[in-house]
Formats: sequence, structure tokens, C-alpha cells
Amino acid sequence: MSKQIYVTRKVPENGIKMLLEKGYQVDINPHDAVLTRKELLQALSAKPYDAVLCLLTDTIDKKVFDAVPSAKIFANYAVGFNNINLEHAKKRNVTITNTPGALTDSVAEHTFALIMAIACRIVEGDTYLRKGKYKGWDPLLLLGTDLKGKTLGILGAGRIGARVAHIARGFDMNIVYYDVARNEAFEKEVNATFYQTVEEVLKIADVVSIHVPLLDSTHHLINKERLEMMKKSAYLVNTSRGPVIDEKALVEALTNGTIRGAGLDVFENEPKLALGLKKLGNVVITPHIASATDFARGEMSRLAAQNIIDFLEGRTPQNLVK
Ligand code: NAD
Repeated sequence: MSKQIYVTRKVPENGIKMLLEKGYQVDINPHDAVLTRKELLQALSAKPYDAVLCLLTDTIDKKVFDAVPSAKIFANYAVGFNNINLEHAKKRNVTITNTPGALTDSVAEHTFALIMAIACRIVEGDTYLRKGKYKGWDPLLLLGTDLKGKTLGILGAGRIGARVAHIARGFDMNIVYYDVARNEAFEKEVNATFYQTVEEVLKIADVVSIHVPLLDSTHHLINKERLEMMKKSAYLVNTSRGPVIDEKALVEALTNGTIRGAGLDVFENEPKLALGLKKLGNVVITPHIASATDFARGEMSRLAAQNIIDFLEGRTPQNLVK
């Protein structure tokens, strides 16, 4: 009997094609929406699926593994895997894979787009014009910040953080970083300075950009106290995961002028935003689209499918999450 795969939401066609070409039977969530918990459990228990291609919006835990005990691989269509309970996966001997690298450039470029947008006040300027407020050139209109010579603080200098630092070097920014793992090769490449604590980076950076995974240790890594350590003139950018920032504290900090602005692609309780965030002019927000380029999403589809194929054909998938 052919292998059966469940895909929890429509993804770019190329990965699905790869699975079909292997003769697998592929069932895809027919709705253009995240499956509710009940729908996900129902869908997975409908057949003895051999593999599941899941998304960061699916919570994969004990109940899900119980619903489909035949599936020994869950291929996450994301580099982050905070949506998956790895302890239970291990207990069940379920292999978990992700899609690292495929989206590094797109997320780093989106991060830089957010940095530019807040520093150059692009969205505020656009809104100002569209509202008909522009009455002519004004020496004091919407003054922003030059990036040249400013200090970029990277929290988490992994694939994406390192790429953001490379882009920033093109703007003649100085790079400082904090990571649980020091990376001397990275330091040499971009002339970056390593600091052993988050606090040290927060105190000196003009722009702080977050690229850590969401873990217990990074939940609310940026909280009220740490926001207060930042420069009043500093910007905070987050394209990692929402709960890394205490969003309520951030709204307060942006409202009170504790920091100058923020650029966010991810939110603590997506798709909801913290009360008051939308009303602030000094924040640029995008709906979790940092990896949303044709290339990155296609590559993620290809990698997720390849991980499933390798596993089902008895090879070790390239992108094992351990
Ligand atoms: P990566 O594993 O290459 O880099 C993560 C870095 O964070 C590593 O260097 C690691 O040592 C460091 N780190 C881990 N725990 C830390 C801690 N407690 N304090 C400081 N540093 C710590 O991952 P990546 O490919 O660069 O992706 C980073 C994150 O970006 C992902 O985990 C994901 O959540 C997020 N992401 C978001 C989007 C989006 O659409 N907005 C897309 C892709 C990835």
C-alpha cells in the first residue's frame, strides 16, 4: 500500500509534487485556514498516516501523537519548532524535522526592511501623505535616524542574526552581539564584539534585533526592566517569535518614550496584538511574513517534502531537530 501523508495546510505546490511523484497519497487540509484543535485531531485520526507535514501554527503535542500513532515523522514547515513538544516526540520515537537555511536571507532582508522603515519613518511618511497632511517641504518634518556608524545589537547570532549583521556592515554599522554560544568566526567576518549578557548589548545598541529561538530561557527575554536599560533613542526589532518580548511592556515603553520605536513581524498572541500597539506611530508591524518570498516558501516546501521522503525511504533526514 502506498504511503499516506497528511499536510495540515496548503503549502507551495513543489513539495506536494515531490511527494506525489513518489506515489504517496497526499491529503491536504482543504480549508484556507489553520485547523482548529478538534479538526486537526479528527483529520489525523482519519487514516493511518505515515507522515505529517505541519506548520508553526499547529500545536503538536501528546494528544496529536496519540491521534496518529502510525506517523513516525512530523516535518515542520518552519525553522522554529517551538510548536512541537519534543519530549513527547522523543518518548514516541517520532522524528521531527524543520527547514533551516531556506529562509535565512528572506528573514534577514525583512528584518532590515523593518529597521529601515522605522529609522527612515517610511510608514509614518506614507500615512501622512495619504491622509492629505503634506503641505510642502519642511525642515523639521518626520526626522529619522541615520544608521551609518550606529551600533546594531544582535541577540542570537545564528543563521538569520549573522546574515542581518552582514547586511548591516554594508551600512557601516558596528556590530555587537549576545548569544549563548560565542561564534568567533562570525566575529571576524563582521568585526563583531561579543558580550556575555543581554544587558550589556541592550545598554549600548542603537538598534536591537532579536533572532533567538523561542525556548523557556528566551520567553520574555525582553521585559520591562530590560526595555528600561535600552537607550531612549534605540529601536527594537523582532522577527523571531512573539513571546520573546513581553508585548504589554513594549507597548508601555513605546508609549512612554522609554525607547524610540520598534519593528515587529511576530506577536505574543498571534494573530492578536497587544492592546494599544496598533495605535502607535513609532512601530512598524508586519503579519509574520518575514519568510514570505516566493523562493523561501518554495524552498521550505521542498525541504519539508525531502525530509519526509528521506525518512520514509530509510535515510536520515537532512534537517533533524534534536
Ligand atoms: P539558529 O538556530 O541558526 O540561530 C539561533 C541562535 O540563537 C543560535 O546562535 C543560538 O545559539 C542562539 N540562542 C539560543 N538560545 C539562546 C538564548 N537563550 N540566548 C541567546 N541566544 C540564544 O536559527 P535561525 O535560523 O537563525 O532562526 C532563528 C529564529 O528565527 C527561529 O528559531 C525562528 O523562531 C525565527 N524565525 C522567524 C521567521 C519569521 O517568519 N518571522 C522565519 C524564520 C525563523
